[in-house]
Amino acid sequence: MDYKVFLIKYAEIGTKGKNRYVFEEVMCKRMRSRLRPLGRFEVRREYGRIFVEAFSDYDYDEVINVLQTVFGVVGICPVKVIEDTTFDNFAEEVVDYVDNEYTDKNFTFKVHARRNDKTYPKNSMEINCDIGAAIIEKFPDMKVDVHKPEVVINIEVRNVAYVYSKIIPGPGGLPVGTNGKGMVLLSGGIDSPVAAYMIAKRGVEIEAVYFHAPPYTSERAKQKVCDLARLVSQYAGPIKLHIVNFTDVQLAIYDNCPHDELTIIMKRVMYKMAQDLALQNDCQCIITGESIGQVSSQTSQSLCVIDRACDKVPVFRPCIGLDKQEIIDISQKIDTYETSILPYEDCCTTFVAKHPVTRPKLENIEKSEKALEGKIEELYETAMNTIEVVYCK
Ligand code: ATP
Ligand code: MG
Repeated sequence: MDYKVFLIKYAEIGTKGKNRYVFEEVMCKRMRSRLRPLGRFEVRREYGRIFVEAFSDYDYDEVINVLQTVFGVVGICPVKVIEDTTFDNFAEEVVDYVDNEYTDKNFTFKVHARRNDKTYPKNSMEINCDIGAAIIEKFPDMKVDVHKPEVVINIEVRNVAYVYSKIIPGPGGLPVGTNGKGMVLLSGGIDSPVAAYMIAKRGVEIEAVYFHAPPYTSERAKQKVCDLARLVSQYAGPIKLHIVNFTDVQLAIYDNCPHDELTIIMKRVMYKMAQDLALQNDCQCIITGESIGQVSSQTSQSLCVIDRACDKVPVFRPCIGLDKQEIIDISQKIDTYETSILPYEDCCTTFVAKHPVTRPKLENIEKSEKALEGKIEELYETAMNTIEVVYCK
């Protein structure tokens, strides 16, 4: 069936009281911008509902795919519009709808009508009964079950009537831009793009920082991070990616600090830079892809010491309690997995020690970091002043 209209269901936004209007408008704006390349569409709010209407030909699957990337959307219902609401015609068209939508007519159903047009000659109850009767007359294997129907046939009568019964799941969450902004430390791995997705899903706008260490990490590794940012941006909206040249800082750490503490000290410097960037760019948090125990730098003790590098913004780690396979499942769902597993080097793995500490103590790490004093400040400044910015969308 060719659909011209989709009803958009949303859940959590509905609980936001007076802000509800703002949340809805942000979500509509995002739908408009995602739909723009696919045809002519109108996204409108009316009677407390959100509709998408097509005014040109479009590809159904493409439209559903795009709507499934808009956070806040819980369900997408393809709607049949009936222009002539004279009851006989109306009933016939609903029966046609059922015929087209369901090849097998052996299921239980109920009709759920809402009447916005109070001048319509039948009230909601009468519409439920009379349409239900018309359906059964045509398809005697269908049975009414008002308590636990397999299918609910929803009808809304206004100047025209809308009929829908299928709900295609959306991504849920809250519209991006309704909960501030965060700076994600985006590596080329599997975890950090998933972390960015999960925080964006709660309505947080995303910027990203990547620590690049040429020539130890290649142009291809950098390109991979840009590609990942672009994939995440399908959900999170355009992402400003800050690419920090980390080589000299990293070499200074390598030359001056114990090698079994390299990863921890490097991470602490990365976190500090990310915090500086977050503050400069109006972000209220930094986001990483760590999960407890995944590698030596992600033991509770390591995370505790790394965490102490940041004192001005919180570090959000949405993958913290997920198993690797659970993170992989999300990365496959959001389409970042195939890019993440491309085998390019990361600066953290290039300088890794054979036997890194797994239970670092803050005072020991701080003692080791003293060796950097007078050596790292200028390099830190230069790295922060030579950042390359790429807009990914
Ligand atoms: P990922 O799969 O996200 O790369 P990982 O399992 O490889 O994570 P680590 O290398 O320990 O874990 O990195 C932990 C987190 O630190 C990453 O999830 C990411 O947020 C951040 N990170 C690591 N390397 C970089 C980098 N080169 N640039 C930016 N952030 C990084
Ligand atoms: Mg990694």
